[in-house]
Amino acid sequence: MRDYHIHTQLCGHACGTPEAYVWSALEHGLEEIGFNDHLPMLKYWQPDYSMAPEQLPEYVEQVHELQRRFPEISIKLGIEADYYASSEESATRELLARHPFDYVYGSVHFLDDWAFDHPERAAEWDERDVNAVYERYFAVLEQAVHSKLFDILAHLDLVKTFGHRPTRDIGTAVERVLQACRDTGTAIEVNTAGLRKPVQEIYPAPDILRRIQHYGIPIVLGSDAHAPHEVACNFDVACVLLPRYGLTETAIFTARKIVGTSPL
Ligand code: ZN
Ligand code: FE
Ligand code: FE
Ligand code: ZN
Repeated sequence: MRDYHIHTQLCGHACGTPEAYVWSALEHGLEEIGFNDHLPMLKYWQPDYSMAPEQLPEYVEQVHELQRRFPEISIKLGIEADYYASSEESATRELLARHPFDYVYGSVHFLDDWAFDHPERAAEWDERDVNAVYERYFAVLEQAVHSKLFDILAHLDLVKTFGHRPTRDIGTAVERVLQACRDTGTAIEVNTAGLRKPVQEIYPAPDILRRIQHYGIPIVLGSDAHAPHEVACNFDVACVLLPRYGLTETAIFTARKIVGTSPL
């Protein structure tokens, strides 16, 4: 199995040494992992949101160093980049072009300056119209996919993280995101971190997994580990769940291309 979503201390909200994440992966018998720390945030940056721009080369070198030190496991160089708005696309593209990433995850964690999935900003949900937040979130996500900045869409329904549910049907908005992924050749991540969040449900939800299979969109698996013990966390659950929706293999990325597939 492969865990493509592992953070490092550089983001300011993860713990453990880089080696400890690799040891944990070896302990879990993974054949491949990918570090996927947050790209320096271009907007709304805070020291505990992501590394600073000048730390990006350090991150890349750290992963290369691990590749040399642990030849017994395949280690990929990924990055998790935020999508904000079309005005930020060229700056993001420029940052991503600086290093030889194996894959780039696209994430939407911000609606304007609101980090809607951040525990410290959770109270703001009470002041919002949940239906409007969902609609806006999926619209921004669709725009993110069409930007073609990203190889993989991260935690597709992250907006549910605290358990807020819309009362209107959002099926069409989700469908548009899935069609955008199909049309642009963007893979989708199955992220087990949702099982550790208040919502206690995998990202994306089972009905979306069924649609992913229907469209034949490639998937990858990620734990979103922010601590070494979270590597491959709940992958046993994913391995039971995914085949029920016809998903039995994950994509292997190298140099921003799918180079093969691997059984779950
Ligand atoms: Zn993070
Ligand atoms: Fe994320
Ligand atoms: Fe992440
Ligand atoms: Zn994440």
